[in-house]
Amino acid sequence: MTLIVREIRAKTILSASKIYPYVINPYVGCQHGCTYCYARFMKRVTGHSEPWGEFVDVKINAPALLPHEIRKKKAGRVWMSGVCDPYQPLEAEYRLTGQCLSALIQNDWSVIVQTKSPLVLRDLDIFMEASDIEVGLSVSTADDRIRGLFEPAAPPIEERVKALEELHSNGVRTYAMIAPILPGAEGLVELLRGKIDYVLIDRMNYRYADWVYRRYGLEEQRSDDFFRRMERELASLSGR
Ligand code: SF4
Repeated sequence: MTLIVREIRAKTILSASKIYPYVINPYVGCQHGCTYCYARFMKRVTGHSEPWGEFVDVKINAPALLPHEIRKKKAGRVWMSGVCDPYQPLEAEYRLTGQCLSALIQNDWSVIVQTKSPLVLRDLDIFMEASDIEVGLSVSTADDRIRGLFEPAAPPIEERVKALEELHSNGVRTYAMIAPILPGAEGLVELLRGKIDYVLIDRMNYRYADWVYRRYGLEEQRSDDFFRRMERELASLSGR
């Protein structure tokens, strides 16, 4: 797969969000390119012609913009990130997410991180200094073969679970984002128990990955029955 990387300069970086007060997206686009990803709607806004997963714009001035915006805006919880994975592979090189998180935490802002990547562990020291932070890994199935069908470019499930375990054992509040619930979610209770503080659960609400269900004969696992059963089982993971 080809990847087109462009370095760009954003006008702002701390944006209002409907989910949390603010969201930061240090990148436009996501190398993980998950088959079901709702964020591909971004292409309509940004005008990218490449397939989702094959372009990333890197907002290289994000760490420079953020302190200025922190000073100007009323403090509120910041979601990192909404329409990209903040720890996609390019973050290893650019470290935009790490620098932005440092600035937020130094200013005592509340943060919620969401990723599929164990690269998040690189910033464990930053998280351990935070007064209000939650770090979540998306883990939608316990079956890495299924992960490979729906999220072929994202890190293996085992690495994500290990990352949660390490964060949790170091005192960081952790959650698992089980959304969308994928086939093979049955083993998640056993896999995640004791490594997270709570779960966020949602069924598959998008049609983008319908072809994956059809091609691999998985349609029964997007039925109401399947989702209801999984929602009941997985809710037992939330301690709150
Ligand atoms: S990691 Fe998240 S943002 Fe990236 S492609 Fe997958 S679902 Fe979309």
